[in-house]
This record gives sequence, C-alpha cells and structure tokens, in this order.
Amino acid sequence: MTDSDSSQSEGVKDFVRDVIRDDLAAGRTTEVVTRFPPEPNGYLHIGHAKSICLNFGVAAEFGGRCHLRFDDTNPTKEKIEYIEAIQEDVRWLGYDWREHLHFTSDNFDTLYQYAVHLIENNKAYVDDLSADEIREYRGTLTKPGTNSPNRNRPVTENMDLFGRMKAGEFADGSHVLRAKIDMASGNINMRDPVLYRILNASHPRTGDTWSIYPTYDFAHGQSDAIEGISHSICTLEFEDHRPLYDWLIENLPVPSTPHQYEFARLNLTYSVLSKRLLMQLVTDGHVDGWDDPRMPTISGYRRRGIPAAAIRDFAQRIGVTKSDSTVEVELFDHCVRDHLNKVAPRRLGVLKPLKVVIENYPETLTEEIDAINNPEDETAGKRKVPFSRELYIERDDFMEDPPKKFFRLAPGREVRFRYAYFITCREAIKDSAGNVIELRCTYDPATRGGNSAEGRKVKGTIHWVSAEHAIDAEIHMYSHLFTRPDPGAEGDFRDDIDMASKTILSGCKLEPSLAESQVGETLQLERHGYFTMDRVSQPGHIVYNQTMALRDGWAKIQAKEKSVKK
Ligand code: ATP
Ligand code: MG
Repeated sequence: MTDSDSSQSEGVKDFVRDVIRDDLAAGRTTEVVTRFPPEPNGYLHIGHAKSICLNFGVAAEFGGRCHLRFDDTNPTKEKIEYIEAIQEDVRWLGYDWREHLHFTSDNFDTLYQYAVHLIENNKAYVDDLSADEIREYRGTLTKPGTNSPNRNRPVTENMDLFGRMKAGEFADGSHVLRAKIDMASGNINMRDPVLYRILNASHPRTGDTWSIYPTYDFAHGQSDAIEGISHSICTLEFEDHRPLYDWLIENLPVPSTPHQYEFARLNLTYSVLSKRLLMQLVTDGHVDGWDDPRMPTISGYRRRGIPAAAIRDFAQRIGVTKSDSTVEVELFDHCVRDHLNKVAPRRLGVLKPLKVVIENYPETLTEEIDAINNPEDETAGKRKVPFSRELYIERDDFMEDPPKKFFRLAPGREVRFRYAYFITCREAIKDSAGNVIELRCTYDPATRGGNSAEGRKVKGTIHWVSAEHAIDAEIHMYSHLFTRPDPGAEGDFRDDIDMASKTILSGCKLEPSLAESQVGETLQLERHGYFTMDRVSQPGHIVYNQTMALRDGWAKIQAKEKSVKK
C-alpha cells in the first residue's frame, strides 16, 4: 500500500470477513488466498475497484495473499492493451499481487486434461446441435429441458470428436463440449452447461495454439483450485452458478477445494458500470478515450486527479453486502473532497479573468506575499506569491450594480485581496459595447497581509493573480456525463449523455508556482475547487482538469435528510 492509511480497513465487518474468520477459527482454512479476476476486454471501472479493495483488502487483513488473474478465455474481445492497463490501475490503487500474476490461459493444458477426465468418466459429451437448438432444448425456468440426441454418445466417440475440435478440424459453433449433469434441474446452469466452444481465433498470449476455449464456468473454478484460492469472491449474478462451480470441483482431480461467495455489485448514479457500455462511449467518440475524466474508470479518475486513497476510502464506506443497491455519486464526491481537503495544496487561479490596475501602486514594484499552503495542514507551510500593479481577478467577483448581499467588488467598494491588501474599486472601464474590460482601483498600503491595523473591516475576500507573473492555462470543467441518475432507464443510454458535460475555459491565469506542478498532483484553486494538470500539457500549453468543485452535495443531502427526520 502506498499511502499511510493501509490499516484503514482493519476492524471492518461484513459477511465475507465473517466467513473467513469462521473458516480460520474452525481450521477449514489455513491461509487466506483470494484473487481479482478481470477479463481483459476493457478498462477497469469503479465497480472493479470495489472488488479489488475487497479481495486485496481481506487478504492483507488476514495475512494471506491476493492474486491478479486475467480471465482470458475469449480471445476475440481481449487485448494486450487491456492487460497492461489493468495492471497499471490495480497497482495505482495501491495493491501488489507480488509474484502472483496469473492467466487462465496458463491453465489451458490442465483444463483440457480436466475436460478429457470428464469425458472418460462419462460426465461430458460433444454436442453438435446449433446454438439455437441448444437453447431450445434447455427449457425455461418453468419448463424442464430435454436431453440432446447426442447426450449418450459413446465415450470413444466423444474422445475422438473432442480431439478433432482441439485440432481445429471444425468450424466455429459447429460443436461444443457439455457437462452431463441434469437437463431437468431446477437450476438452468446445471442443464448440461457448455464447457468448451470452438473459436478459431488467435489468442493474445497463446497465439494459434488453440481452436477451442473453455467457458467461464469451466475455467474459473478450476483456475481457483489450481492457484489454491481459499475464498473465491464474486458478484451476485454468479450465485446461481455456484452449484456448477461445486459440481466441477467435486468431479475433477483438482489440487484444492475453493469455495465461492457472492456480494452485491456496485451501481453508481449518473454512471454506467459495464465495460461493454463504456466501450461504446469510447468507440462512438462520446468521450476522449477510456481515461476521459468523466468516465467512471480507474484511469479516468486518475486523469481527473482523484487520489487512489479516496477510492479506497469510498470502497470501505460502501461496504460489502448481499443485496443490490445503487450508491449516490455524491457519496463518492464526498470521499474525494474529504481526502483532498486534507492534502491538497492551495493555490490562486483566476478562471475568467478581469484586469485590475491599482493606480496608486508603484509601477516597478513587485512584492512577494506570504500565502498559506494548506490551512488543514500546518506542516505544509507557506509560499510566496508575487503582487504587482496589474492583476487579474475573477470576472464574477465584480458587479457594477450589485444586489445587497454581494460583498465582492463594485464601484466604491473595498474588499480584501487574499493575503495582500484592502483594495477599493474606483472606476470600471468599458469597451464600445458597454462590457467592463478593466477596473481602476486603489490599495491601502497600511493593510499589507490583508489586515487593517486600525481594525477596519471588509466583508469580502477575493483571489487574484499578478498579470505579469501569471501562467496561462486551459482548464477543462466537467459535470456528470449523463443528464439523469439512471442513464438508459428509458431507452438507449447514449441518449442521456449530457453534451455540455465538458466545458473548456481558455486564457485562465494561474499563480506562477503552478509552473512546477506535475501531472498526477491535485491542488485546490481557492474558492473554486480541485484541479490537476492533464497529461497532454506541454510547455506553452498547460491544460488542467477540474477534479471537483468545492461545494459538497453529499453534505447537503445529509443535512436535508436530517431536517426531514426532525
Ligand atoms: P463488466 O460488466 O463491466 O464487463 P464484468 O463482471 O464482466 O464487468 P470482469 O472483468 O469479469 O467484469 O470482472 C472482474 C471482477 O470484478 C469480477 O469478480 C466481477 O464480479 C467484479 N466486478 C465487476 N463489476 C463489478 C461491480 N460493478 N461491482 C463490484 N464488482 C464488480
Ligand atoms: Mg465479464
């Protein structure tokens, strides 16, 4: 773990940890071994993060280990690019699989031998019904299935056909290997499930060695057993597969007997958490790649400046349960703000600049003003920010004819320029169209540091940047990618994309210390929110991404709920 809160999850209680504690106490388990088993057919999202934090988290808590296993059994959809991106993401989240990087494809030979074992024991057969016929014969929830006419094929014939499937003699889809279990089972997964299918496709790791590939059901549990997994933790949709998982473990000469446990998958408002749908957003060009800062992918969050520790904190707060639910994205945002508030350095930056000239300030003078780096963290210290005669302030911090409650700048009004001086606006200069383009102001030299010795008070404090010293930046502002909390609930989810979810602000003015900022560092621009430098930045073209605004929607929701309860 890279951050200081590695022990954060100690003392966490949930049903998975209860099972493990009981197994250890009863001696059923001697070493806790878990795995995170992604299919390399896309990039990881926040739902995967929940699974990663759970699997790596429990392994660490109980002194065991967690494997990273690529479930690479579908070569037509899988790519090396995804294998690499997934490893980068898991590592970035703070987890280490050490030497336990595994691939289901490493077990292809063993799995083949297991299939042969089933055939020899008359527990599997080759079927040449079409996919549609297999579906028809399978029956429904209310109607039992019927046996395939191929179900009683002699063992020798099955052996011969399966060998020829492997040798690449048949076309895709022409034959499958099925387990011989029970076509009348109340559980459809037990009605002679498919174990192997023909795919004359090149595999990212095994190349053209194989023409047949094991199904998830056949590969997964057996890989667990081969790797010595003690607790195979997956999401609820596999609950009905557990009898098959157990049947295969019982009927095969596997080296260990893992058990499967299911937990609820994460759903998040204003997001889609499915690699298939996320892939569509990428391929249709609705977003700027898998790591677009609006994507709920780990790489998207990273590019948006969200710290890994905040994601781990979120995973811990949502907990692990057995019933599906949807988590409000505001809770996620809250975790991020909570974390960044403690660690993010504060800086001054003007997003929509308005020029200010301090008429009584010496033309050649530049003062280095002390500014506090983080009021939440004394050890973060102070820095110097240059102040000079010409400055930029936020356009929204000036109003020509302000309403009563506007405590910022207006003609004749005095405000504090943060850390610097009290400034009074004397005149607003306009262009021919009547737009304010510059403010003429004066400062009170006796208020250096932003305080008046005589105890004179001002109501407003605004931020500023010295015009001469400012660095220019383009800032990308983001809101939810979707217009509704449940995208796709009433039609195609792509119709719910918010076309205005990304706004580009150019000509933003940042304090000069930001020239030293690094991609991957997140800072707070005072009064605006959190920002991080984008990876596309180059000297002369600095791009920042908005990580999150300061406003805390989650706190608001909670406050509202409290007031409703009263
Ligand atoms: P997707 O629908 O996004 O493709 P998947 O389950 O097919 O998801 P896998 O790569 O097979 O993706 O998943 C790897 C692991 O992550 C599995 O154990 C799976 O259960 C878990 N996982 C996937 N999505 C979620 C989620 N939303 N919440 C919790 N765990 C998840
Ligand atoms: Mg999958």
